[in-house]
Parts: sequence; structure tokens; C-alpha cells
Amino acid sequence: MQQSKPREDNYRHKGLRKQLVETLRKKGITDEMVLAVIERIPRHLFLDTAFEQYAYEDRAFHILANQTISQPFTVAFQTQLLNVKKFDKVLEIGTGSAYQTCVLAELCASVYSIERQRELYEFVSKFSFLQNYPNIKRFYGDGFQGLSTFAPFDKIIVTAAAPLIPPKLIEQLKPGGVAVMPVGSDMGQKMLRITKDQSGVIFKEELGDFMFVPMLTGKNK
Ligand code: SAH
Repeated sequence: MQQSKPREDNYRHKGLRKQLVETLRKKGITDEMVLAVIERIPRHLFLDTAFEQYAYEDRAFHILANQTISQPFTVAFQTQLLNVKKFDKVLEIGTGSAYQTCVLAELCASVYSIERQRELYEFVSKFSFLQNYPNIKRFYGDGFQGLSTFAPFDKIIVTAAAPLIPPKLIEQLKPGGVAVMPVGSDMGQKMLRITKDQSGVIFKEELGDFMFVPMLTGKNK
């Protein structure tokens, strides 16, 4: 993540991003809008300078508060499943480094993102790159509760392992809306795409095995 001194985004970084996009294509990401956004966003700014050299490898990385910035493939995969349209109202659970948040914002969604770790929430508040996105609103809170004041949402994305489908999130999904979340235990999760039809009926699809940090209840001071 960006520290106080401004950091650059140079030709080497841009070249590495192109290579990362090629890797994601080979791994099956086909949504050109998602790939273009990943090519534009300087992921190295979301990592500590000491780890910058790994920023464009397709791997997750440790950030503050014992959390992780998701693997680029996972970010691309979840975003592709979400099928974000311009001006969609998107609720994200687990801001973390805010990389996924920026991917959604770069797709011109109106993003509402919740983080339960105060340390991370406050760290991200000082991250100047986010000033590029007036369409991001961040909240310190418990994602299991969602954000009833701003509901309903067109799309909901959870970036931590949910032990079960959080009922309040499904309540806060618009008819016709889509939620994407990893559901399971700390041994592994299935990526679920949950669709609510116009009459409120829920459909679930399982789309592969993943390993996320746990979604925990309550806020952490
Ligand atoms: N999308 C983030 C992923 C961070 S890891 C990124 O790529 O950087 C998952 C995040 O979910 C962690 O920051 C964790 O603190 C947060 N989290 C876990 N349970 C939560 C909850 N109930 N509400 C909000 N955030 C939660």
C-alpha cells in the first residue's frame, strides 16, 4: 500500500501488468473490460514498497492486520462473475487493501465497501490513490449486517470466506441482482454465484474451489 512518499507507476510496472493480463487470459479470464481494468490499476501501490517486486505475480500477499490482498486471478474471476455494469450499486464485504474496491470503481460502479479491521480501515483512509475514485464509499463495520441504509444493491461481492450465505446480504440484494462469495470453512470454500430473480427466488451456482481468510462477525477495534 502507498506510504507517505509518492510512488511512481513506470514503464516497467506497465509492462509487468501486460504480462499479468496475459497470465489471467491463459487461466481462463475472458471479460475484456475486467482485463483492461487490471491492466490500468497500479497494483504495486497497494503493497508495501518492500514487496513491490511481487505485485504483478499472480499471487495473494500479506497486508496489515494479518489479512491478504487477493490473488489477481481471484479478483478477476469474482469481478467477471459479478458482471458489473456502469452505475451498478455494488456492496463489497472486506475492503482489505482496497484493490478489488478500485477494480469495481474503475468499472464505473458505485461502490460501498465494508471492512471490520479498524487498523486496515484507517490505513486505507490515508491511501491517496483512492482520491481518484469519488464513486467509492468505505465503512468500518461488520459485513454480516450489510448496509441497510443504502440497500438494495445491484451486486454484492464478499472477499472473505463466509461460513454460510449471510441472510442480510441476500435481503439487501435487488431482484435481478447477483452476489458472488466464497462459502465454506477454513479448509476451503466454493465460489458461489447467487442470483435473485424478479420474484425474489434465489438460484445458486458453485464455481470452483478457493481459499480466503475468514469472514468474522463483529468489528475488530
Ligand atoms: N479484497 C481484499 C481482500 C482482503 S482479505 C483485497 O484484495 O485486498 C478479506 C478482508 O475481509 C480482510 O481485510 C478482513 O478483515 C475482511 N473481513 C473479514 N470479515 C469481515 C466482515 N464480517 N465484515 C467486513 N470485513 C470483513
